Amino acid sequence: MTSSENNNPSENPAPPLAKTQADSEAANPRLERLRARARERIDQEIKSELAALTARPDFHQTVGYFTNLLSQDLSPKAMKQRFGREIVGLMCLQVPLEFFLALDLQPLRLYGGSLSAAKSAPPGLPALMCPILRSLMGEIIKDPALGELDWIVPTTCDWVSGFESLRNLFFEAAGSVRVVELPRRKEYPLAGERWLSEVAGLWEYLKKISKRRPGRKELLAAINSMEKARSALGRLSALRRKGQVPAVYFFLVTFSFFFDSVPDWTKAVNDLCDRFQGQKPAPGPGLFLTGSPIIFPNFKLLRLVDELGLTIVGDDMCSGERLLFRHVALKDTSEDGILRALAETTHDGCLCPVYVENKRRLGPIMEAAREADFKGVVFHLLKGCHPYEMDSLTLERDLFENDLRFVRLETDYAPEDSLNLMTRLEAFRSTL
Ligand code: SF4
Repeated sequence: MTSSENNNPSENPAPPLAKTQADSEAANPRLERLRARARERIDQEIKSELAALTARPDFHQTVGYFTNLLSQDLSPKAMKQRFGREIVGLMCLQVPLEFFLALDLQPLRLYGGSLSAAKSAPPGLPALMCPILRSLMGEIIKDPALGELDWIVPTTCDWVSGFESLRNLFFEAAGSVRVVELPRRKEYPLAGERWLSEVAGLWEYLKKISKRRPGRKELLAAINSMEKARSALGRLSALRRKGQVPAVYFFLVTFSFFFDSVPDWTKAVNDLCDRFQGQKPAPGPGLFLTGSPIIFPNFKLLRLVDELGLTIVGDDMCSGERLLFRHVALKDTSEDGILRALAETTHDGCLCPVYVENKRRLGPIMEAAREADFKGVVFHLLKGCHPYEMDSLTLERDLFENDLRFVRLETDYAPEDSLNLMTRLEAFRSTL
């Protein structure tokens, strides 16, 4: 039975499902059957999406680098073997990615984009649960090693903050969780200092789990490497502003970041930019995309936009352009100075709508509108994503006041509403 068939928690008192991989399979053949089915369905879904990408007429070997990357075994065990470093789970983006690089750790973003994984999640989860986290639950069913990783959890939305308790309800073996508390009043004078102390605490925690003692030299090298990655993604974003990069490829690239080494990924993005440099801009009207993140392999909305001949020229999603959004402004190169600069970058640059005041979310959209001259904003809202739902109301008003058209498309990972979404997008196009 899938979660969508029966997901009332009171009717489904769910026992812990998974122990460690080693002891569970012999003891629980039902669990092993569930796991095998989840594995088969999720792998098939990924294969189909990759096949659809490689079948596009504009597919090229520079894009093939990323589809190849995602066609490999993406389990923590395989990644550890491939990179020769420990894997750490990471929910949301607020913490400095430079830390992982400086400590030779591989961050693995804990977001699920697979419909099959969402359907493989244990029964008893809340009916209107964020699909990203429902899907993550299914991913843990498929591979319990994911739940056994040490996790970094910034307290963004309530789903993310409370996810540890849901995980522990269903899975017996779990890694440690380091909660990083976000000060919700960003502009409050003490918020920056509070965030700095969270970031410094995380640095110490990661040093402990990596068993390394790096200092400013390693941090500076990591910043240098990440800045190159930011510049590469900035180049790709600039080409997309001109309508030269299809959104499906853009989101494929950003999703791949956590499955590659930073220098290799940067090189592959630059190669892609060289390739797209000469591309004829797409003729369709430009759109800006915002709202709940779009996670591979669920590219439903991106494909529909494409089918209608519309072009996404920018986004502010944490799974898109916002992955590597702000450059680090380094004034003081002591270790303390570096930590401060990283804390400031992640605090100031965060566009997540979980703060008390979210007016700042308008700025980057208006900036993109000046660069790309688009008229419409598509708000992708995942059912169950309350922060973005609330944000969409104020953003709609603010965009209207700035003469930009707005459409909110509420959806989930299931394909059944594709026709409806297409009709709404067509109607929206006629207003542009
Ligand atoms: S902010 Fe929205 S999309 Fe992100 S984890 Fe929370 S509910 Fe899900």
